[in-house]
Amino acid sequence: MYDIAVVGGGLVGAAFALDLARQNAKLKIILIERNQPDFSHNQDGFDNKIYALSPKNYQYLQSMTSGLDEKRVGTIEAMDVRGNHGGKIEFDQHDCRGNYLAKIVEYRNLHQAVYRELSNYDNVELKFTSLAKIENEAEQVSLYQTDGSKLETRWLVAADGANSFVRQQVGFDLEEIPYYQSGVVANFRCEYDHRNIARQWFLGEGILAYLPLPNQQISIVWSSNEPDVLLKLSADELSSVVAEAGEYSLGKLELITPAQAFPLKLNLIEKFYAGRVILIGDAAHTIHPLAGQGVNLGFGDAWELAQLFATHSDSLISEVDLARYNYNRLAEVRKMQMTCHMLHRLFHNRLPVVDKLRNLGLNLVNQIAPLKKMLINSAINY
Ligand SMILES: Cc1cc2nc3c(=O)[nH]c(=O)nc-3n(C[C@H](O)[C@H](O)[C@H](O)COP(=O)(O)OP(=O)(O)OC[C@H]3O[C@@H](n4cnc5c(N)ncnc54)[C@H](O)[C@@H]3O)c2cc1C
Repeated sequence: MYDIAVVGGGLVGAAFALDLARQNAKLKIILIERNQPDFSHNQDGFDNKIYALSPKNYQYLQSMTSGLDEKRVGTIEAMDVRGNHGGKIEFDQHDCRGNYLAKIVEYRNLHQAVYRELSNYDNVELKFTSLAKIENEAEQVSLYQTDGSKLETRWLVAADGANSFVRQQVGFDLEEIPYYQSGVVANFRCEYDHRNIARQWFLGEGILAYLPLPNQQISIVWSSNEPDVLLKLSADELSSVVAEAGEYSLGKLELITPAQAFPLKLNLIEKFYAGRVILIGDAAHTIHPLAGQGVNLGFGDAWELAQLFATHSDSLISEVDLARYNYNRLAEVRKMQMTCHMLHRLFHNRLPVVDKLRNLGLNLVNQIAPLKKMLINSAINY
């Protein structure tokens, strides 16, 4: 019998398993992932799954891993956000307490660093397998693999992503709100130095972000109503369209990593646990990527839940402990989900009066230093 089974070895599940293994050597942990990761191409080009990590989460991951290739990590020192009609807001490190706003990390680089570190812990077993059924019982959880064999655990932590199999099996209540948009991601080399500035345009029809990578390169996230139109463009056409939408702020662009699209939705869950099963990361909540906060929220879950298990060495976690955990996480998660949702709604409203107001609003926030500080600190300090 395992103490804790983590289903889903993406960034959040793997980081949670690692944090737990480090903190409590007595816990018997199993990390179950359906796809065995292949890190053999990690040095080829740049991954198009790129995440902006808050300073707090970047330090959290650095404190647990040593193998992150820092040469491949970008830094955001300032942000320049534009509305579609002259609205503008700018942030830099003077608006916050740290010396940078975020780090830009490739998924595969971070994933490899976490997996490499995990292999140093004898109390974590890695298993690459698919699950067929889950039974959430009073004293344990039973996991049936597709080959019919069974695993037993006291607790199951599900980090198996936005379409969580565990969540469906256990029957959590979920409200799913589609954005009818996809996030189109791609990487480009740029003509001008990006000076570690992240740029974002609220275009009316979508939201485009340029995130600074090392070596005069950027990664983009374009939340678009028509992702197929962008995906069908040739490399040169896409480079021109992205450069034009970004007002040629970095001159000409040259595509270096092909575009990929991810459908966007808002998943709302009130209660992240049921019996002996606890949801974390995208299995528990998804968010519009306009503020780059999805995996940051997931690492917040991982950190707080690992603390809870680590301080209860005999795994005697009560309903009260879980309710407190839920309360804390729900407050953080909802605040961020609703902020991003409202921003998305605001910039998708085509009424001319709303159009003027939102651009005016951006300019106003830009001039009110304490409000600006509050906004940026709430985004980077969790
Ligand atoms: C376009 C876009 C841009 C984004 N940019 C940012 C950003 O800049 N900053 C940020 O913080 N967030 C960002 N996000 C959000 C971020 O991608 C997610 O929040 C993050 O990937 C969630 O991590 P996770 O580990 O919870 O889930 P996932 O990354 O989905 O990982 C789930 C893992 O579970 C495995 N799995 C699934 N089902 C099973 C099963 N049945 N059994 C075993 N294993 C299973 C999968 O193979 C996978 O490895 C962005 C999202 C999008 C779409």
